[in-house]
Amino acid sequence: MADEQQHRIQLDVPRCTGLGLCEAMSPDHFEVQDDGSLVIHGPDVNAGDLVRVRAAVAACPTEALRLVVR
Ligand code: SF4
Repeated sequence: MADEQQHRIQLDVPRCTGLGLCEAMSPDHFEVQDDGSLVIHGPDVNAGDLVRVRAAVAACPTEALRLVVR
């Protein structure tokens, strides 16, 4: 079996202001609710989505998102 690294999205909830830049860049993974809270779909990231999710994490203006290796 391949020993691939598994990436996971982490959200620092108090930092999130709900503006949705992450959702705009990767709507499959991030969804801002009507009340402004953010839902992360996953949160494990498939290798094929990694570039897109990295860009979404980097786009967060409040640094509320992190991508960690499990
Ligand atoms: S871009 Fe950052 S602050 Fe905006 S909704 Fe996403 S996690 Fe929250």
